[in-house]
Amino acid sequence: MDASGQDEGKMKQTSTSSLNEETEPKTSDFCPGFNDVDAFVKYGLGKVVAATKASANLPQAGDEYDFYRSFPGFQEFCETQGDRLLHCMSKLMQYHGCRAHMRGCNKLTGLEERFDLVVDSNDVILEQVGILLDEASGVNRTQQPIMPAGFQPPKTIVSSWNRKGRDHGQGSSSETFRLLHAKNIQRPQLKFKEKVDNSNTPFVPKIFIKPNAIKPLPSYFTNKHIRKERPEDLDVPAALADFIHQQRTQEHMDNMCAHPYQYELDHLTLSEDLLKKPEPQMYKPLSETNCLFVDTLEDLVGLNEKLAKTSEFAVDLEHHSYRSFLGITCLMQISTREEDFIIDCLELRSEMYILNETFTDPSIVKVFHGADSDIEWLQKDFGLYVVNMFDTHQAARALNLGRNSLDHILKLYCNVDSDKRYQLADWRIRPLPEEMFQYARVDTHYLLYAYDRLRVDLFDASNGQPALLQVVWQRSKDLSLRKYIKPIFTEDSYMDLYRKQKRSFNTQQLAAFRLLYAWRDKLARQEDESTGYGAHTRSLDMSTS
Ligand code: AMP
Ligand code: MN
Ligand code: ZN
Repeated sequence: MDASGQDEGKMKQTSTSSLNEETEPKTSDFCPGFNDVDAFVKYGLGKVVAATKASANLPQAGDEYDFYRSFPGFQEFCETQGDRLLHCMSKLMQYHGCRAHMRGCNKLTGLEERFDLVVDSNDVILEQVGILLDEASGVNRTQQPIMPAGFQPPKTIVSSWNRKGRDHGQGSSSETFRLLHAKNIQRPQLKFKEKVDNSNTPFVPKIFIKPNAIKPLPSYFTNKHIRKERPEDLDVPAALADFIHQQRTQEHMDNMCAHPYQYELDHLTLSEDLLKKPEPQMYKPLSETNCLFVDTLEDLVGLNEKLAKTSEFAVDLEHHSYRSFLGITCLMQISTREEDFIIDCLELRSEMYILNETFTDPSIVKVFHGADSDIEWLQKDFGLYVVNMFDTHQAARALNLGRNSLDHILKLYCNVDSDKRYQLADWRIRPLPEEMFQYARVDTHYLLYAYDRLRVDLFDASNGQPALLQVVWQRSKDLSLRKYIKPIFTEDSYMDLYRKQKRSFNTQQLAAFRLLYAWRDKLARQEDESTGYGAHTRSLDMSTS
């Protein structure tokens, strides 16, 4: 504590002495005592470093702390300093418009509550910083999302379902997102050739042909008799259907749980060229590039044949998760060096699997940005897998670009201002409005060029060695190995949601909560809606109300 105290003094001295020399005659200080932002930041940083050091030197809980605590003087010191700190934090949080009742917390649950508050406030503050940085660099985030003409005006629904749960490569705050909600859209599920399987049973891979196999597909997947009859379709009570399902699948459990391309991915060897420094190949201007909307099997086959002749192509997906229990992949964007394609996945849902021929071809690189969800959606909806992927989000991370979103990469390498207004648009809308069509193609149009540039930078960043490139290829492969896991309802599922709430319930309330939760899950599966859909379910969303 002594040492850090000295540091603190030094810091103050240097900044005040420079202040005396330079700023006395000036009247327009940045803030009292500091003539510019840099001086203020330097001073502030010094304070933060000193405070961090000092706190690290405090007696540790479970160690010296217990001994020190036996002294009343120490206890009193902790009380007053603790109170002061909480007061400071409350002030800071209030200043930023966050919830800030830090000091009034319950003694028992207080720590957890406070921790949640701090985490929430950090998110809010970081988000504000992000917005200000965007504004400073010319991006305007205050624009409202827009809807194509002819659709109902967007309705904002704030609900925990559209809270971002995982890092999708677009920043990681837990903010609540705006949802574009268009009414009167025909449910695409009605047209699906294969009924959606919302039953409370584990996901079974949809694959039945395995192109580019080194290890053949287990007979379970190729045997049509087993696959054709689904227990949910039989005219038997649900419990019996579940039992039949269990019996049938027991012996195939291992196969079902495995990743169909695990063996191929484990034995994937990168061609030497992919570890060298590439010569970036400039993208074609958007205006000079053909973009084909693929909604017939014939065109899909044609596209697959084109892809088979390339050595790399870029892929992205658009997904809808509000009016469906498991979510629906609505569009697939693909760009080669020459052309853009947008596939209507609602129309071609049952035919998409033919792309496995190119998607699992180890000699063709598939470039994605932030493929975490895409890999799962491909399996869930189409039985598609990816062998030999490069994820530009992983590349940005390995390069420490600071911000790893696609917008940032496009700005950095292509000086393109992408427009994220349609990110949460309702991608089920057909015919696809022109604005959404143009928006969607931008997600992959520049990606192969970004892939080149990122590889150059990765190569340079490891001093002309392939080390960082190898890291990115490996991380991308790990993502390809991800498996889709269906949400399974168990007797304890409700506890996960309960723990996320900010309140505690008594026994009676908890029992009611458990029943409501089970009812909501059952209804959502039955009606094929997300658990967040509809006013009747809003009552379970206490985290936002
Ligand atoms: P993207 O890769 O950015 O094109 O996003 C693909 C899909 O992910 C979108 O169609 C949305 O369904 C979903 N998505 C993207 N960003 C968000 C977000 N911030 N919150 C919730 N869902 C998102
Ligand atoms: Mn994406
Ligand atoms: Zn996209």
